[in-house]
Amino acid sequence: MTDPAASPPTEPYQAKVLANRKITPEGASDEVFHLVLEVASAQVSLALDQSVWVQPPGRDENDRPFDLRAYSVIQTEQDGAGHSLNLTFSVLRLVYKDLFTGEVKRGTASNFLCDAKPGDLIPLRFQG
Ligand SMILES: Cc1cc2nc3c(=O)[nH]c(=O)nc-3n(C[C@H](O)[C@H](O)[C@H](O)COP(=O)(O)OP(=O)(O)OC[C@H]3O[C@@H](n4cnc5c(N)ncnc54)[C@H](O)[C@@H]3O)c2cc1C
Repeated sequence: MTDPAASPPTEPYQAKVLANRKITPEGASDEVFHLVLEVASAQVSLALDQSVWVQPPGRDENDRPFDLRAYSVIQTEQDGAGHSLNLTFSVLRLVYKDLFTGEVKRGTASNFLCDAKPGDLIPLRFQG
């Protein structure tokens, strides 16, 4: 009998960045980006406000893959069969000062996403 726990986890989908545009004005204290990703070959049907899950590349301080981060779909175009061709979500760049050390820290996934360029690949999961 096959032990499901022994099965290797599936690889995340690699979604290509089509566009990444900063929507906040220059000089604003926060930065928000609209990220458009191509997901045509994933054959998924996404709905507005549905979450997709980003797997930040690299490993955490315990040498484990980073936890997934959720982002909410705000736009998607679908083909005739109802499969999403692309999706858009907005990302707030997380930068904060550690209250104890005063060190400036940058959120792992949000900075990865805000710095992404067209053609880059974003590891995505469509279910948590
Ligand atoms: C259902 C759902 C949908 C979401 N949709 C979106 C979305 O559409 N767009 C979006 O931008 N985000 C969204 N988020 C949040 C997103 O998933 C991430 O949590 C967010 O981008 C930060 O991830 P990060 O990896 O950049 O930060 P991390 O590296 O995970 O750092 C976050 C951690 O930093 C610490 N921290 C943060 N701010 C401070 C502070 N001021 N002082 C001290 N410590 C602090 C906290 O410990 C916090 O847990 C959503 C979350 C959920 C649950």
